[in-house]
Amino acid sequence: MTSRDWQADRRAVFDRDDHTCRHCGAVGDATDPTDCRTHPVGAPPLDGTVHESALVTVCTDCFVSLSSSPSVDRSSTSLEPLTSRETLFDHVRETTRTQGGAIADAASFASLATSLPTTLAGAETAGEPATDDTGAEYRRLRRDVLLAIDIADAQLERLGSIDESAFDADVRSSVDAFAASATDLQSTLRTVVDRSETVLAGLGRCHGCFDALEGDRCSTCRLEARETADWERADGEMALERLFSAINDELQDASTTTEALTDRATALAARLSDD
Ligand SMILES: [Zn+2]
Ligand SMILES: [Zn+2]
Repeated sequence: MTSRDWQADRRAVFDRDDHTCRHCGAVGDATDPTDCRTHPVGAPPLDGTVHESALVTVCTDCFVSLSSSPSVDRSSTSLEPLTSRETLFDHVRETTRTQGGAIADAASFASLATSLPTTLAGAETAGEPATDDTGAEYRRLRRDVLLAIDIADAQLERLGSIDESAFDADVRSSVDAFAASATDLQSTLRTVVDRSETVLAGLGRCHGCFDALEGDRCSTCRLEARETADWERADGEMALERLFSAINDELQDASTTTEALTDRATALAARLSDD
C-alpha cells in the first residue's frame, strides 16, 4: 500500500511538531505544504484516516531515506550509492549515530512507561481530571523512538545493498559483522518498545494514542491492544514488577550490544583506512 491510499490531518501533525523533522531537526517552511512529510510509525492501519498519534513530521531527505517505495524518485536526492570507502564509512557512522539516538529514546520511553502506574494512580487520588501532559509526552517519546528505529532499519537495508564488487573481502566481512550487531540491537530496541507499550495495555489504555481502551481495538486510533497474557499473575492482575525488570534487562542487553557495535565500527574504520 502506498502513502497515497491513506489520509491524515497533516497540517495538525506539522503544527504539533513545529514543522521540524523529528529525526534530523531540519526546519521546514511553514508556508510551503510540500516542504515537510509525514511518516507513520508503529504500524497503524493504513486504510482511511491515520490518527495523528501515529504520524511524525520528517523532512524530505529523511522521508526519502525511509521510503522503500519505488514511487520515490531517488535520483533527485542526496542518496549516493555506497561505492567508495568514504561513503561507506560515513554511512556506517551515521547508522551508529542513529542507533545511539534510538537507545537514548528507548530508555526515555521505557522510563516514562514504567512510571505511568504511579503517575496515573497519583493523579486519580488527587482528583485531577485528564492527564493530558502525560499523554502528550508519552505519544511524543513513542513516536521518537519508533522513528529512530525505522530510520536505522532503512540505513541497515542500504548497507545490505552495497556494491559487493567495490570492496575487498576483508571490508565486506567487517561490514557484515557490523550489520549483524546492529540488527541485534534493532531487535532488542523493538522488544523494549513492545514491552513498554504492554504497560499501557495493563493500565487499560491504548499504547498508541493513550486513550482509555474498551475491547481489543482502540476506537480512537484503531490500533489493536497489546497482548498482556504473558504478563498476568495467576489472579489476573498485571505482573508489573516482572514486566519492568524484563524491560530493564533488555536495556542492559542494548548497552552490551552497543559495545560490540562500537568495536565492529572501529574494526571497519581500520579496514577502510588500510591500503
Ligand atoms: Zn530530517
Ligand atoms: Zn488509540
